[in-house]
Parts: sequence; C-alpha cells; structure tokens
Amino acid sequence: MSITTDDFQNQSSDVFLSGDLVRVLLPLPITGTYDYSVGPNQQLQAGDIVEVPLKNRHIYGVVWGIANGNFDKHRFISRRLDLLPLPLVSRQLVDWVATYTISSPGSVLKMVMNTSIVFKPMPLDQIALVTAVPTPINIKITEARRRVLNVAIKPLLMTELIRQSNVSASVIRGLVKAGAINRVVVSRRIVNAFPNWQHAGFPLSNDQMIVASKLCCKLVNEFSVNLLEGVTGSGKTEVYFEAIAEVLKQGHQILVLLPEISMSLQWLSRFERRFGALPIEWHSELSLTLRRDYWHAVANGSARVIVGARSALYLPYPDLGLIIVDEEHDASFKQEADLYHNNVIYHARDMAVARAFLGKIPIILASATPSLETQINVKNGRYGKVCLSNRYGDASMPNLDIIDMRLYTLSRQSWLSPPLVTAIEDALSNREQAMLFLNRRGYAPLTLCRKCGFRLKCPRCTACLVDHRQIGKLQCHHCGYLMFKPTTCNQCNDENSFVACGPGVERLVEDVAVKFPFARTRIMTSDTPNNIRAVRELIVDMERYEIDLLIGTQVMAKGHHFPLLTLVGVIDADQGMVGGDLRATERTFQLLSQVSGRSGRETHKGRVLLQTYQPESKVMQALISGNKEQFYHVEAEDRRISNMPPFGKLVALIISGYNLVDVEHIAIQLFHLAPKCENICVLGPVLAPLAMVNDRHRMRLLVKASNTIKIQDVVRQWISKICPLNGVLIQIDVDPYSFV
Ligand code: ADP
Ligand code: ZN
Repeated sequence: MSITTDDFQNQSSDVFLSGDLVRVLLPLPITGTYDYSVGPNQQLQAGDIVEVPLKNRHIYGVVWGIANGNFDKHRFISRRLDLLPLPLVSRQLVDWVATYTISSPGSVLKMVMNTSIVFKPMPLDQIALVTAVPTPINIKITEARRRVLNVAIKPLLMTELIRQSNVSASVIRGLVKAGAINRVVVSRRIVNAFPNWQHAGFPLSNDQMIVASKLCCKLVNEFSVNLLEGVTGSGKTEVYFEAIAEVLKQGHQILVLLPEISMSLQWLSRFERRFGALPIEWHSELSLTLRRDYWHAVANGSARVIVGARSALYLPYPDLGLIIVDEEHDASFKQEADLYHNNVIYHARDMAVARAFLGKIPIILASATPSLETQINVKNGRYGKVCLSNRYGDASMPNLDIIDMRLYTLSRQSWLSPPLVTAIEDALSNREQAMLFLNRRGYAPLTLCRKCGFRLKCPRCTACLVDHRQIGKLQCHHCGYLMFKPTTCNQCNDENSFVACGPGVERLVEDVAVKFPFARTRIMTSDTPNNIRAVRELIVDMERYEIDLLIGTQVMAKGHHFPLLTLVGVIDADQGMVGGDLRATERTFQLLSQVSGRSGRETHKGRVLLQTYQPESKVMQALISGNKEQFYHVEAEDRRISNMPPFGKLVALIISGYNLVDVEHIAIQLFHLAPKCENICVLGPVLAPLAMVNDRHRMRLLVKASNTIKIQDVVRQWISKICPLNGVLIQIDVDPYSFV
C-alpha cells in the first residue's frame, strides 16, 4: 500500500492551469475526446476525474491531456472531483483496448468508471487506515516513530496503531506529514480483507514446490507471461497461491480472474485458509454500494487481492504487481456482442496480457487444457511454461471410458445407457457421489406437433423455444421471450399435440427419478434465480454429502472439488461438435477434460463415462488415450493449413437492425468498400445463422487476414467510409469466438 497522491503526481509532470485547454475523455460511445477550458483557480493533471457540462447536462470524465485549440471557444470544466487521478497505466489500457478492439476509448472508459455511484460522496461509515510506506531517507527516526513504523507493516486502524505502538496521535500525524506512513480512507466493509502472506498454508508437495519456485523467480517488476499447466487436481491453485504470497510480500496488488464466479466459493475458502483473510470479490451481482466501496479500495491501494470475472480487469489499480488468469482457455472470458448496443467485444485473457505488458508486470495463465493460442505462444518462446503432471497426494487420474451409443436402443424418455446406469448404481451403493453432465438448460430443447411436425419457435428470434417445466413456460434462450405452451397447434389445429423432443437437464432428472427413486438428486444450472447464492448452497450440500446425484450444465464443470465424487457421466459428449465452428473440437476437448477432472479427486478412484455416437472422432480418441499433445498438434496443423487463428487473423462484422432493407443496405456498402489487398479476404455478407434476435435482423461479414497485416487499421478505415443509417448497428468482433 505504498501509493499516495504524490506518487501519482510524479507519474505525469504536466499540470494544467487556468487558460489551458484540455482533452477530456467521456465514458460514452463517441469517437475521441472533448475539449474543455480549465477554469479560473483550477489546477488539473492528466487522469483527474472531472465533472463537465455536455449539452444541457453534467457528466463525469477523465482529463486525458493537453489540447490544441482556442481556449475561449470552449466550455469550462465544472469541477475536479476529490478523488485520486486515474493511474497512467489505466489510461494506457483504455487506449490500448480501444485500438485493439476497434472501439471508442469512451466505451472502454465506461468499463473503467463502472457505475456513476462511484463518484457520489462516500457515506460516513468509512475508516482511516494507516500503513508504512518506504521511509523517506531524510526523516528523523525517534524511538516512538520507530515503534510506529514497526507496527504499521500492514494496514491498521488508526486507533489500533496508536494502541499497538503505544504512542500519541501526534506522532502518527507527524509521520503522515513526513510521508513515512500513508493514510487511506476505506469503507468498513473491506477492513478485514487484508491477506497475510505469512499465514501458513498447506505444505507443498515436492513437485508443487519446484513449480512454485520456478514461478516465483519470474515475479520481478517486468513483463512476462507464464503458463501454469497441470492436470486437473494437481494443485495449480495452491501453487499460484505461492506466487500471490510472494507479490503480497513485495507489497503490490494482485488480480485473479476466474471464468465463473459461482466456482469461487471453494476458491474463496481455500484462499482464506492460505492467507487468513478473504480477498475482494468483484462480479456483476455486487450491490451498488459494495461496488463503490471496492472501486475506491482498489483505487487507493487498500484492496490487496481482487478476484473477479472479466470486468475486474478494468479497475483502477495503482500498483498491480501480478495477474493470474485461472482456466485461461475458458470461453466465458470472451465478452460477446450485446444485442442492442455497441459494447466493447474483447477477450479478457488477451486484455489481461496487454495490461501486464503496459504495467510491466508478470502474468500467469493457469489451465489443464490451455488454449491453442497460448500453446503456440509457448512454442514460439513468447510465453514461459511450468508443468504439474500428477494429481496431488494419493489421487490418480480417473479411468475414462467411452460408451458407443450406436450399440444401445434406449426406451423412450430415457437418456442413460445401461453401462452408465450400472456405474451410477455402483457409485451410489458405495456411498459415493455421481455427476451427470448435460449442457442443455430446461426440460427439452425442442417442442413439436406430433401430427404435422410444426416446431414452436420464438416469434422474435431464429430459434426454437426451450421447454422450462420448473417455471411452467417455454423460453427463448436468446431474447428471454416467455410463453405458455399452446394447447392447439397453430398449423394443423390439432389439440394437445405438442411433444417435447430431446433432453434438457430438467428432463434428465425425471429419468433419474424413475431409475434411482431413492437418490438425492439436484440440478445445477446457470438459470436459477439468485444464481450465485443458489449455486453456492448446492456446493455446500454436495460437500456435506447431502446430494448423491448432481445433474448440471457447464457451471458444474469448473473448478469444483468434491472428495466423494467418483463418477462423471456425460450424456451427450458430441453436443459441442454440432454446427462446428473454428474452435468446436478444441472446446469440446477442453470442456470434457474439465468435467472429467471432477471425478476421483481424492483417495477414491474416479471413473468417467462418455456417451457418444462418434467414438472414433479425434476428440473421443484423444480423451481415451490421454494424448493431449497429439490432439493439440493435429488441431494446430489444421489451423495452420487453413491460416486460421492463431496462424491468421479474423475479424467479424455483425450488422443488425429492425429493418432488413436498411441492414442489407449497410451490408452491401461494406461489401463494395471492402479492402482489396493481398493477404486480406472478406467473406460475406450473409444472413447470420441467428438471422434474427429479438426482432433485429442480423447479417455477418468475416475478414480473414494474414498475421502480418495490421488488421485493426484496415478495418477502422473501412468502417469510416460507411454512411451510417439510423437504427443499424455495426459491431466489430476482433478474434471472434462466436460465429452465430
Ligand atoms: P487444480 O486446480 O490443479 O485442479 P487444485 O488446486 O484444485 O487443483 O487442488 C486439488 C485438491 O488438492 C484441492 O482440494 C487442494 O486443496 C488439494 N491440494 C493441492 N495441493 C495440496 C497440498 N500441497 N496440500 C494439501 N492439499 C492440497
Ligand atoms: Zn427470442
């Protein structure tokens, strides 16, 4: 916590005074900055958060730098907020992300500023904390001052510091004035979130110790990327906790990105056990006041370790010393396009690497099945790599078998093959737990008329409605549209002819209830209301052995550790391959490895059964043989031959609007003005596979370019030539992961 306002002032020497014209970046999706005059008696610097007039309202923005222009022609900055300036590296990140993702810097700044409550005055329940900063050389150290400095090695309440060092308040005030200790004001809520690196954790195994010390060697103040690859259950978390401890000791802040905040419960308790305190959690379900308190705690350096989803990356860390991206291959790190707005579409792992680069700090990417992108970077020597090849302790990897579904005819309403049923029986009779994985929410993915085949579709989207029996309605998974199941068919007027087709997790529960009436069965999906709390309760019940059979979608696949869970059954292992996009094979492999990795994580030996109709596919073969290297090698060759990422670049353009003619008009303009140069190829426009979402028509273009091209510059120029049409959105997705 060695950050003071003065430190920031040293970062940028420019001070702007009355008579200067400055550029102010506003958190709005507009190009560039707006110019404002510095008012009489105002003194500003880059990064200052200011209130400025915009048309007939006031808005908060950030001073970005000096402007050229006529001072008199501009409106005045209304006031400077009494807050620390946005650190230089945060401002650099805004510009970097905007350039890379071809978005406006204002849209990126909006993610940094988060919510306007951040800029409302703090309530009075805040407390002053003090901590030592490196002592200035020229101060006089008295005995009393020495006592204070010895105690203030970690943040303490002022009263606590007085008590523990047995001095008067004036001694402390003197030290604050001399700059030897730092006083920050934080909310009461975060007082207990000061992890202690000296708190004892588990002793590491030999392997873990070797890997941890290799990682810790890299934790110097310079940019480096290291992949921590380790099989599921090898103790990657415990190992990177050592890296966290090292950086806490150095006195810097640490950011840990997790793909699924629901998986953080077990993570949090392990963290608390290791460091004696909880970290700051940052996610979308935080209340506004917590959001404000945490934002400030990060900004003033009092929040030491922050764990969160994508958006935690944009917090205004003044002194970040390490980033860890856990499950770095996970698709949910990708922020996808919003339905109605031009949001910033980015991959949080990639932006985290950029943040580390800008801040000149190390970053660790952890995974059991790293993304191909990361693996190629390791191969090229750009990233380092350390490996844990065995599970921790006595646990061994689970036995994995494939069930060839072509050999079985299942009865109607049944999705479990005989070998899987037997395996579940075995697990339950041994008083162990089983998990059935099906990545489909709801009861049935399709409802059709038995008589004429008419399918119930969303009136607003190109999508079938999904039957959700728990809420008693049919739901569209794209726009959220809800309706009761009709009693007569719209096409043939037949009564009560609609039938559910295919299984979702809710339907699987029925099947299981018939076959295992005494098993305590629960569902885990991402669509339960109060998702985070509900999922966390389930996890606790699972740990307490109050559940025998857990049925769930991919929220269940990540990170969890249940000692009694010895059987994982995958109902439809081929599911991810349908409609296969660029990464379908890779993603299926990663997901299935990850689900499988939940099984047998302690002394009980684990089993995994995959139901598939394509036992000879390369994914299934790689999973059985366990030959991950070979799988990735073949996958990489496929991509290399077709110049696909990471051997080439892709940018997708999605054009959408309520009026199809307008959408087509823009798409055709894009086509005619498309860049025509070597090594760039523009595919489309075509109607998107999801041709309509929430009444908005969608078309797509795909730009394919070689790695040598600065594709962002090309696309930016191209888009600037388009005459926009009201109501038509052009969204740019650099490095797309979704092709629908
Ligand atoms: P991974 O992230 O590689 O799947 P985890 O870090 O979740 O693995 O570790 C798997 C399990 O083993 C966890 O329950 C963890 O607490 C335990 N574990 C790992 N390393 C140790 C250790 N050195 N001492 C005690 N328990 C450990
Ligand atoms: Zn819909």
